[in-house]
Order: sequence, then C-alpha cells, then structure tokens
Amino acid sequence: MNEGARRDLQLQLQQLRDGFAEAIPEKMAEIEAAWAKMAGGEGRGSGAVEAEFQFLYRMAHSLVGNSGTFGFHDLSECARALEMALADRAPQANLKEAVTNLQEAASRAMRVSRPGPDYSDFPLADPNASLAPAPLVLLVDDDEFFSGDLLLQLEGYGYRVKHCRSLASLPSALEQEVPAALIMDIIHPEGELAGPAFLSDLIAQGKSLPPALFISVRDDLSARLEAVRAGGLGYFTKPLEIPQLISRLEVLVGYRGPEPFRILMIEDSATESTHYAHVLRRAGMQVSVVGNPLQVMEPLLTERPDLVLMDLYMPGCSGLELATVIRQQDAFMGIPIVFLSSETDIDRQMSGLSMGGDDFLEKPISPEHLVASLTARVTRARLLRANMNRDSLTGLLNQANFKYQLKLELSRAARRQGKLALAIIDIDGFQAINDTYGHPVGDRVIRSLTRHLQQQLRETDILGRLGGDEFGAILLDTDEEGAQGRLDSIREAFSTHHYRGLDSVSAAQPFAITFSGGLSGFPGRTNVGASPEGLLVLADQALMEAKLQGRNRIVVAGV
Ligand code: GH3
Ligand code: MG
Repeated sequence: MNEGARRDLQLQLQQLRDGFAEAIPEKMAEIEAAWAKMAGGEGRGSGAVEAEFQFLYRMAHSLVGNSGTFGFHDLSECARALEMALADRAPQANLKEAVTNLQEAASRAMRVSRPGPDYSDFPLADPNASLAPAPLVLLVDDDEFFSGDLLLQLEGYGYRVKHCRSLASLPSALEQEVPAALIMDIIHPEGELAGPAFLSDLIAQGKSLPPALFISVRDDLSARLEAVRAGGLGYFTKPLEIPQLISRLEVLVGYRGPEPFRILMIEDSATESTHYAHVLRRAGMQVSVVGNPLQVMEPLLTERPDLVLMDLYMPGCSGLELATVIRQQDAFMGIPIVFLSSETDIDRQMSGLSMGGDDFLEKPISPEHLVASLTARVTRARLLRANMNRDSLTGLLNQANFKYQLKLELSRAARRQGKLALAIIDIDGFQAINDTYGHPVGDRVIRSLTRHLQQQLRETDILGRLGGDEFGAILLDTDEEGAQGRLDSIREAFSTHHYRGLDSVSAAQPFAITFSGGLSGFPGRTNVGASPEGLLVLADQALMEAKLQGRNRIVVAGV
C-alpha cells in the first residue's frame, strides 16, 4: 500500500477515535443515570430495576470493547470491572465503587490525549486491484538447492516468493507481510516432523496462519497425518510435480484473489462496526453492516456473505440465539460464524462455539489478527464449498462453481496475457428424447455426453453442467477458432454414437443424438468478453444462433 493510502487510513481511524472520545461524556451520563435509578430503585417494582440493570450491563459491556478498540485501555479495564460486578450481582457498595472508578477513568480519558492504535505496519490490500502486487508465497525449506529451484519456478508462474531458511525465521516473516500461502517442508534440522509441529504450535498459540501446503520426501501416513493436523490443505512429495503444486496454489490463492471476501457484520454499536469495517475493507474485503440483529435474514440472502462476524451481546436477541437461527437453515449451514466480543469468560465463549460459532475473537483485536483470522476461515470455507458443489448426475462442477472457475481462469489468463475459450453446449431436441424414451434414457444420454466430453477435451480444460441438457467448457490456452475446430470434431464423433430405448420396441431402433455449441473467447473481439458474465452472454447468444441455423453445429460469437 502506498504512503498516501496509509495516511488516509490513519486519518479515518483517528477521526473515528476522536468521535468516540467526544461521545464519552454522553455515554457516562447514560451510565450514571441508569445507576442512579437502579441504586434508588429499591422501593419500585423489580421489573423496572431489572431493566435498568440490563441496560447498565449492556452499556458497560459495549464500553469494554469500544474503549479497548480505540486505545483507551484504562477505561476499558474499569468498564470490564463494572461489567463483572454486575454479572456477579455484587453488593451495592461494590457496584458503586466500580461506577466511581469508571467515572474517574472516563475523566482521565477525556483529559489525556493518547495515540490511537498504530497501523503503520499493517499490510493492506491496495483498493485498486490492477495495481495489486502478485500474491506472496512463503517457502519454508532448509534445502538451499531445492528451494532455489522451486523459488524460480514459482516466480515463473507469477508469484512473489520469500524464502525462510529456518523454522525460527518464520514468525517474523509472517509479521512482515501476511502471505497468500505457505509452502512448508516436513523435515527440518529440528526433527523428522518439525515443519507441521511448528505450525501446530503457532496455531495453539492462537496465531492465524495463511493456507499451508506441505512438501516432503516422506510419503508415510504419520507425516501426512501431522500435515493435516497442522491445517495443511495439500501434500506433495518430492520430487515435486510442479503443475500439480501450482494448480493447488492457484486454487488457494485464487479464492482470495479475484472475488473479494464478503463479510456480513452484525454489530449494534455504530462506532465499532465502522472501525472494524474500515480495517476489513482496507484489507480488500467487502463488508456490509447490520445494526439490528433482527434484520439479518435479508442481507444473508442478498449479499451471500462468505462469513458472518457478530457480537455476542446485542439488543433484541443474543449472538448465540442468532447463530443457532442462522445455522438451522440449510442454505446457511456452511457459512462460518465468528464471534467478535469483549467476552473473556471462557465458559461463555465455549457456549458460543457450541451453538454453531466457528471462532471466538476477543476485543480489542489487532487489525492483523482480525484480517488473518477471517482470511483463514473464508479460504477454508470456500475450498470446502468448491469440493462439495458437484452435480450429482454427472459429477461435473455445478453451475455456480463452473462460473467461479471461469472467473478464476479469466483473471489468470489476464494476469499472464494468456487466452481461453468458453463453450456452452446444449443437446438438440433433448425434450423429445425424454418424451419418447423416458427420463432414465435421457439421464443416460447426459452421462454419455459427459464422458465423451471428458475424454475428448484436455485434462486441464474445465467442464461443468450448467443445468438440464446444457454444459459449459473452459478451454485453456485456446482461442475461439482453435476451440471451434476441437468442438466440431467432438460433435461429429458424438453424433455417430447410437443409443437404444429400454423397452423391446425402442430397443430395436437405435437412435443418434447431436448437440450444438456457442463459443466466446478471451481476449475477444470486443470488451464484452473481458468479464466472466460477458463471456457467458456471448457464448449463449452464439448457442442460440447455432440452434436457429438448424442445430448440430458450433457457432463462434460475433462471426
Ligand atoms: P433444443 O434443441 O432447442 O435444445 O431443444 P431441447 O428439447 O433440448 O430443449 P429444452 O431445453 O426444452 O429441453 C431440455 C429438457 O431437459 C427439459 C427438461 O425436462 C429436461 N431435463 C432437465 N434436466 C434433466 C435431467 O437431469 N434428466 C433428464 N432426463 N432430463 C432433464
Ligand atoms: Mg437442448
């Protein structure tokens, strides 16, 4: 990030902090008023006293997080003491003392001007994506010769690579710049399993690590097991098959690359949500904020967040209840839910996790820690989703995933000045096959075309089922003309297959099937094809044209 942008962030955060400091007297007045009512409320109904109690508790709780976030640690501590005294239903005298201490801390906070949290070392994504640097990979391997070679290869694929020659140098390298991925050797001078053991230790210390791939000459189960326990998302034996390693890396890095992480934050304190939203946005994430937890359903559906970040205590309903409600709906079962709260009680943290939360982060939290934690969660969730979302009839990528892959491949092609072609293929007169021979025969035809395409396209090409009798294919390193040639020969070969119905009459009369295809390419003739959506529209139009021209043909968009 450049100096100007960093100063800009500093300034915005400073303004937030000033805004918070200005609001301290108002908050204290509310706290004092609630306390006065509560303390003087012995004679009134217990309901009224209870309401004041709850209000005071919430105020104290939110002050713990707020003031900690903006660097008023003394105030935060005193608010915590009051919160705990209230939670324990401490005697009146103790509560009074806690309120008095809080008042004094507040007046100190208003008098003394403290520097806010220091963001000068915070690694931030450049909001201008085209200027974003190549993704950084941290290679941890003590073998100088091997590493030198791998480093050059990775750089050849467009990565920036930093080499850690020892495990001991890893923590400081991680602090300097959070890498997009880690490649870690299993064996180090410290021991036969020292690599994964070291990462496991870091995780146990509460560090959030980027996605890790392990490499090793070892190919035994215990090494692979340790790698999994250390959170490894891939294991490759030496000598490395570089293309395989690269394609896994592309997935890990790609998931954070072209499509920004979408975070839905549920937080009733506007000051806090603004602060954390700033931090996350500056790290390149998309953040939407919901102030009222009862209004969370709509953004869950419309924003399709990768992760929900929420407070534990909110008016209207608690974070625990909300997590349960979200989790009970199938569509949201896979969304990671992370609590961000000033709750330090380990029992309550645990109950948050048992109710469906994935992680518990304590306020105040450093920007690096917050960004790294959410990044790790979202990356894993996206990977998991990608592996799960396959079409059940054909085993191909489903539509959503195919489109996602298209996005990745397109951005990769753009990065390397490469090319690709997109084909949409649709069986001709498929409805009639269903009608004449029945649905099971229709299914068989779909599976047969799937197999045919898998066999005839390159292994690296990407196939998906877009729905019904429609398939998508991404042909890498190929232009539209090349793709047309390949698809035409696939089409001709396919049309010579013969199918039979299931009953004796239709079984005696074999029939043939054809398909039509529409093609678009990148870089295309126009700018439309520079986006995944544009490519899909162009290929779809070309497919329509092929159908109009009489079917059983491949048409290139715009020709
Ligand atoms: P066209 O040449 O214009 O493409 O005509 P068509 O009959 O192939 O077009 P249409 O899109 O109307 O037909 C697709 C049919 O595929 C409609 C739907 O009932 C059927 N279908 C969708 N999914 C499946 C499936 O999984 N199995 C079977 N057997 N049929 C399916
Ligand atoms: Mg069709």
